Amino acid sequence: MNLVLLGPPGAGKGTQAKRLQDLRSLVQLSTGDMLRAAVAAGTELGRKAGDIMERGELVPDALVVGLIAESMDAEKDSAGFILDGFPRTIGQAEALDALLRSRGEQVDRVVVIEVDDDALVTRITGRFTCATCGEGYHELFKKPKVEGVCDVCGGTKFARRKDDTEDVVRERLKAYHAQTEPLIGYYKAQGKVRAVDGMADIETVQKEIDQALDGA
Ligand SMILES: [Zn+2]
Repeated sequence: MNLVLLGPPGAGKGTQAKRLQDLRSLVQLSTGDMLRAAVAAGTELGRKAGDIMERGELVPDALVVGLIAESMDAEKDSAGFILDGFPRTIGQAEALDALLRSRGEQVDRVVVIEVDDDALVTRITGRFTCATCGEGYHELFKKPKVEGVCDVCGGTKFARRKDDTEDVVRERLKAYHAQTEPLIGYYKAQGKVRAVDGMADIETVQKEIDQALDGA
């Protein structure tokens, strides 16, 4: 089973991908991780990608597809792959289809984690972590029991991610709607899309994803 996970940043794709990887012996292909690994390993593609990223440019689709092909070769015996973060555009989806076709495979299922924009902004902009032990908190959903004191380690310093501001989140959502949503139509035309409600609690999201993968 080859699975594509779609959903805006912050929808919980990474968490779900990790769980499916453990549960179903699928191999997660995260393009960000693959790029970093290839650069660190100094492979031919990695050196090319490293040069491009150093210049602050976007790594071309063909190079990313090459990395995906290498990773698939390295994990030939797996039960399938989970793609998270790629494809992001129709052009990338077509390139992925071509790659899989050349291997006698296809994208079998596309799971879209649907979330409400405003709710996602609230979810992301409210989160912070203990600067000492890393425990995660949220202004609305998970405050420390004693204000300003970490439940776990008693630390009193907290940190926020620089990118967790409303402007940045809205900008990312805009990019997602513009570029990635057309992909849903692309895969719908192939009858592969299953939508799950990403605003539900995590157990419900997991259950819906399992049904999406096991159903016809
Ligand atoms: Zn702490």
